[in-house]
Amino acid sequence: MSIVNSSTLRSFIIWLTIVPIGSIYIYTLYPQREISFFHFIIFSILAFLTIYFPIRRKGKPVFLVMWVTVPVFLMYGIFAEIMVMQIAITASLFSFKTKMPIINRFFFNSTLFFSLSFFAAVAFRFAGGEVGSMNFWQMILGVLFYQLTHTILNDVALRTFILYKKFESPFVRRERLMDYYIIIVCIPLSLSLYFLIQIIGPTAFLLLGFPFFCITFLIRLYENSEKVNVLLQQAGEIGSNLSVLKTEKEVIDQFVLKANEMFSADFAYLFDYNDELLKLLQACENGELVSLDVTPMKPGQGVAGSVLEKNEPIIYSNRMEWEQLSKFYTPDEMESVLCVPITRNRKIEAVLLLGSRKKTAFREYQLQILDLLCSYFTVSVEKSRYMEETVIKSERCALTKLYNYRSLEEKLTYEMERLHKNLTSSLSVIMLDIDHFKNVNDTYGHESGNDILKQLAALLQKALPENSILGRYGGEEFVVILPEMQKSEAFCLAEQIRLHISESVFKVRPNLIKINNILDVSITSSIGVSTAPDDTDDAMTLLRNADRALYIGAKQEGRNRVAEYIK
Ligand code: GH3
Ligand code: MG
Ligand code: MG
Repeated sequence: MSIVNSSTLRSFIIWLTIVPIGSIYIYTLYPQREISFFHFIIFSILAFLTIYFPIRRKGKPVFLVMWVTVPVFLMYGIFAEIMVMQIAITASLFSFKTKMPIINRFFFNSTLFFSLSFFAAVAFRFAGGEVGSMNFWQMILGVLFYQLTHTILNDVALRTFILYKKFESPFVRRERLMDYYIIIVCIPLSLSLYFLIQIIGPTAFLLLGFPFFCITFLIRLYENSEKVNVLLQQAGEIGSNLSVLKTEKEVIDQFVLKANEMFSADFAYLFDYNDELLKLLQACENGELVSLDVTPMKPGQGVAGSVLEKNEPIIYSNRMEWEQLSKFYTPDEMESVLCVPITRNRKIEAVLLLGSRKKTAFREYQLQILDLLCSYFTVSVEKSRYMEETVIKSERCALTKLYNYRSLEEKLTYEMERLHKNLTSSLSVIMLDIDHFKNVNDTYGHESGNDILKQLAALLQKALPENSILGRYGGEEFVVILPEMQKSEAFCLAEQIRLHISESVFKVRPNLIKINNILDVSITSSIGVSTAPDDTDDAMTLLRNADRALYIGAKQEGRNRVAEYIK
């Protein structure tokens, strides 16, 4: 806050010493030619409107104000021109926004344009121009110098400012070239207005002002359709970016962030519609994802609920229009709302609500674009779900949902590389095989065997430390990768597991024996342990060592025991 205040104060002092004092000085130095109050008002209005409704190029305003201010200068001299220009630039404070506080912008613009008016007038005199003259060639040269000086100094001042404030300059520099092009239009326009007023009087304002604003209006219409094209292109880009994301969560997060950004919203909420309830899935406030605890809504409740019920998008311009609808969570500063249902196969799956602090922030034409974005979203969600499923299927075993043989080997290789890079100091592997499992199958049936395998998988998952990687290596063989675990620790863990298994009962529903009851079955297991870098520094050898410890040290020694690899 103190930065704003001190820079405001600085701008104010500079403004005060240049603009009011300079104006008085100029007024006394060049006594004012008599000015028609009517002319002054019309000139000021035209100049104000020219700045208030600027033509835009690539979203940046292009100012043609000199077509009005130059004739003022040519007719009445520098003081009148300064006054009209000062009135006109106040329009720029309202017609577009920048990061600079409005009061600072006023001081900056006012000081800058005062100085520009002054130096341009000096250049006019230097080129032999004379206020009030009707000599065409003298005036055209004077005006050329006037406008060039004005534009060059403006350009230099803005570049210096950008450099000083460290804004990104290449973009701004490219747009500034436009100011030089418009001199070509402004010179004939301003001279026409000047000479025409001199010849036919105030009707000249109409004769030139009317076509000028008509053309401005037409260009603005064209700009709007250009805006739609730009938005459509953006939607396409966002769509293709969404489609390559691998998880559903990534798609949802990106969609909410991008929709928020694209429509310049301050708030974005995505609700999932399921079980007759709208639940908040993701929220973005002020450009960042936030987690909120919001009560789920029924169809018809709140803005999102009513959009769901009617299955139609809606736009509200201000808070009064929707406030009575919503007893649910809404940010206090939210004014405008744009809310759309998101459908798939003609069924509503979700609702997206965008909000803005500004009134009348959303427009009809944005609905179609948002609709397009939403269809990209639903397709991407579906694709990401499919991809997630495929990944799970390819790396997990269908019965136990544990990692399969292939992903276990991948993960072991990865952990071994980490060990080689000294990111971990040790890496242990446990291999476990159920004892006499064939007998279990023979006695209770293959399905019962499967039940046991599932229960054992769950038991192991619970018993293992968080960073361990558990997989089903083969039929009834399990492997645990234990990063950062020494051999003695791994041996203790294996022993705990062995004991735990032998003390547990597994529930089976035998289909071989003609009993319908659920039976308790006990099993035992044999375990082999091997550790890197103690035993080896190769991933596959580590696995083989654990296997060897399992068969030689545990199985051959009578089963239901743990053995470590011995070189
Ligand atoms: P031990 O390991 O103690 O030497 O005896 P075992 O009977 O367990 O012998 P082994 O490990 O060689 O045999 C594995 C048996 O596990 C063979 C097969 O019947 C059973 N098996 C393997 N995969 C599955 C499976 O997916 N489901 C069921 N139900 N049984 C399986
Ligand atoms: Mg076995
Ligand atoms: Mg086996």
